[in-house]
Amino acid sequence: MKKVFNFSAGPSTLPKQATEEAAAAIADFAGTGVGILEMSHRTKPIEGMVAETESLLKELLSIPDGYEILFLGGGASLQFCMVPINILDSNASADYTDTGVWANKALKEAKKFGKVNVVCSSKDSVYNHIPKNFEQTAGATYLHVTSNNTIYGTQWKEFPKANTYLVCDMSSDILSRPIDVSKFGLIYAGAQKNMGPAGVATVIVRSDILGKVQRDIPTMLDYRTHIPEHSMFNTPPVFSIYVMNRVLHWLKNLGGVAEMEKINNKKANLLYDALDNSKLFKGTAAKEDRSTMNIPFVFRDEAVPADKKEEMEKKFLKAAVEKGLEQLKGHRSVGGFRASIYNAMPMEGVEALVQFMTDFK
Ligand SMILES: *Cc1c(COP(=O)(O)O)cnc(C)c1O
Repeated sequence: MKKVFNFSAGPSTLPKQATEEAAAAIADFAGTGVGILEMSHRTKPIEGMVAETESLLKELLSIPDGYEILFLGGGASLQFCMVPINILDSNASADYTDTGVWANKALKEAKKFGKVNVVCSSKDSVYNHIPKNFEQTAGATYLHVTSNNTIYGTQWKEFPKANTYLVCDMSSDILSRPIDVSKFGLIYAGAQKNMGPAGVATVIVRSDILGKVQRDIPTMLDYRTHIPEHSMFNTPPVFSIYVMNRVLHWLKNLGGVAEMEKINNKKANLLYDALDNSKLFKGTAAKEDRSTMNIPFVFRDEAVPADKKEEMEKKFLKAAVEKGLEQLKGHRSVGGFRASIYNAMPMEGVEALVQFMTDFK
């Protein structure tokens, strides 16, 4: 097989070991002789696997007691409405930080269920930084943040201290660094950036914030439906959960989240140093907010004239693919390039990219 490093923003690269284990389970799950895709979720092996995935996540993120872990369909995008439906009363308000396209989608959706206070925004500067000083609204139910802005490559290095509790979309950096879960009332994340394949989103919710809104919640959208059933109220995305299970084992064997953070910092520093020292390329995000997960970069204006950029970008991307460096095209709203270097991207991949950038110059 051709050696490829996949820099896709999501779905994204997974540990090879995890995908190989998942592939084997399609033929025969845990020595049962039955493939995992063909097995009822009401069987001991599957129930055990889902329960183990929950406890692995609890261990890796040091989730304190009082929190529930759910595996749900609908991606992170369903959580944009499910969160306010469950915890934001129609006559109450919530504070939202507008730090990127996903953050903006979350706040737009919340407006359908209660009052939203946009307490800060970096939209006017194409979301190239995280706003630092903002006032929270007295009486707001929660403060919503997007921990890592996948498209713009910015990341909250320190979370703001919420008057009540934080609600966080952690889709693109969950498990990349240790976090203090006790600051959060609710964390949600689609799996397909840093945890597994598409098809499952994880919700970590402090149970005492639930059951306080007046509205009648549709059964499937109510977290309280899924909690006592351990995400098995209906058929869960078993295979996606299983791949996540293998990824979590991989992460645990590697030394857990604290060790992962060290590796992620090394990878990101290597690429940022290369960009800062390059005469051809530069990063687009404010230095103090730079993401360790998604690194957008462009040609420097003084190196490539505006009317030559598009042609040069095509050349760069084509030559990169020839070297096995895939999916480096930037998001259309930033342009240029983006290297997503999630947990599963090995150091080797970042080294290959840096070498290629030097050679290309
Ligand atoms: C990818 C992404 C989403 C959307 O996830 P889906 O699972 O496709 O709905 C939401 N928020 C962030 C921060 C993302 O990176």
